[in-house]
This record gives sequence, structure tokens and C-alpha cells, in this order.
Amino acid sequence: MSYIEQLRVEPGAKVDLRKIDAAWKGEHDSHEHAAPEIEEATRKLRELQFLLYAENKRALLIVLQGRDAAGKDGTINHVLGAMNPQGCTVTGFKVPSKEEAAHDFLWRYHKAAPAKGQVAIFNRSHYEDVLVVRVHELVPKEVWSKRYDHINAFERMLADDNVHILKFYLHIDPDEQLKRFKARIDDPTRHWKISDSDYAERPFWDDYTAAFEDAIGKCSTAQAPWFIIPSNHKWFRNLAVSKIVSEYMDSLGMKFPPPSVDIEAIRKKYHALAN
Ligand code: AMP
Ligand code: MG
Repeated sequence: MSYIEQLRVEPGAKVDLRKIDAAWKGEHDSHEHAAPEIEEATRKLRELQFLLYAENKRALLIVLQGRDAAGKDGTINHVLGAMNPQGCTVTGFKVPSKEEAAHDFLWRYHKAAPAKGQVAIFNRSHYEDVLVVRVHELVPKEVWSKRYDHINAFERMLADDNVHILKFYLHIDPDEQLKRFKARIDDPTRHWKISDSDYAERPFWDDYTAAFEDAIGKCSTAQAPWFIIPSNHKWFRNLAVSKIVSEYMDSLGMKFPPPSVDIEAIRKKYHALAN
């Protein structure tokens, strides 16, 4: 069974994150053992992104969500490392600016959606509006509770317009998060990554769990599935995300477009020049 099938959340599923082992490693026992497969997935990703870019008919949106220190930045570094930057955009979403907050909640995300031929990666996303916003009641429940439907409608509209959407929840457990917080404290080159909000959010662990479970369960759809990626092991997270993205892109049956010129006529012109 592929990771697509194993890690995809079926539409309408009841998600229980506590039952999902964040330290799962698939069939691999170590990074070393998985290395050839990671390399192969990376190579395929590069090839398929080139094809998506050349074909210029559809777009891919990759949504990354997860708790603090779950590895959103690391995943972007890995997945993007396999791609040609000309065909990619990465957008991180923070606390909305004054201008963003003055608009409807989807406005800033829609602006960052990918053009045809492009891959867009969202580091946090429109899901924050049913995650942090729900946990801290930044808007009343009657406002956020309607957003699941709005999100599904937004994603369906994108999908109908040839934007393929893959959403990843990077799943770590509380011990792993603490380990990563410690690693940040102990490594001066990572002090800049530490934020007060990481520590402020930690006591809300269970509230976030409930919010993630609802968001993933209500918004995993055929056209925009959620995947829950066991992410305690960074190498497994990278492997699973790259394999899912590359296998998904492979399934699209993309083709290089036909030439816009008569290749035989061009060949003759070339020979005339070269002789
Ligand atoms: P980071 O990803 O570590 O740079 O942190 C970004 C912060 O922005 C996180 O604490 C998010 O919860 C917060 N954030 C992102 N989107 C929203 C939103 N729509 N409303 C409120 N806070 C948000
Ligand atoms: Mg952070």
C-alpha cells in the first residue's frame, strides 16, 4: 500500500490524533535504510515539477499545518530543494496584518494560490482561521464554525479551476515537541526560531488537538485530501511528504505540450545555420 492510501484521511472520517503513532516509520527502521527511497522520491519530484511547469495547464497547492516545531520549515526546505524555484512560491501566514484583517478571512490565501504551471506551498494556511482563531476565540463560535463550509467551497472552486490540493498535518507528540524546544535552546544558531508563542500555546495542546481533528475530519475531501504525517522522525516526514506529492503528480498523467513550431522546418533552419 502506498503512503497516499495509508496516510490519507477519508472524507467524513472521525479523526483521533491520540491513536496515531507520531513515531511511525513505515517499513523502514532508520534514516540510513530509507535514504535510497528518499533520494528516488526527490528525483521523481524534480522530474514531475518540470513536467507541471512545461505543461502549464494546472497548478499544485501544498498546505502544511502542524504545531510549533512540528517541522513545517524543514519540510519546505526538503520538498522545495527538489524543485526548480522558478516554478514555486512559498507563502508563510502569520498573525494577519491590518490590511489582511480588514478583508474576508480567505482573501490573503486566495491571493497566494498558484498560477497554472506553478507549485505553491502554504506554511500555515486558511486552516489557522479554524485553529488558532478557534482555540483563542479570536472570533465568536458562530463565525468560525461556518468556516469549514467556506473552506470546502473555496477548495472546491480552486480544484474546479485545475488547482490540485494536497494538505499535510505534521503530527508530533508532546514529548517530541519538548525535545525540539530544548534543541532550540541548546543551539545558538536556532535561538532565533524560539518564540514566546510556542510556550504560550503549549498549555492549549488538547484544545489544538480537538481543533485539528475537526478541521481534518470536516475538510478532507476527494478533491483536497488531508494526510496525517507521523513526524517525530524528520527523515520519515520528508520521505512520506515527497512520496505522496510525487505519486500524486505522477497519477495526473501529465504530458509535455506539443511544440508550437514545425520541428522539421526548424531542424532545416538549424542545419542551414550550422553548415
Ligand atoms: P510562525 O509560523 O512560527 O512564524 O508563527 C506564526 C504565528 O501566526 C502563529 O502563532 C500562528 O498561530 C499565527 N497565525 C497565523 N495565522 C493566523 C490567523 N489567521 N489569525 C491569528 N493568528 C495567526
Ligand atoms: Mg513558530
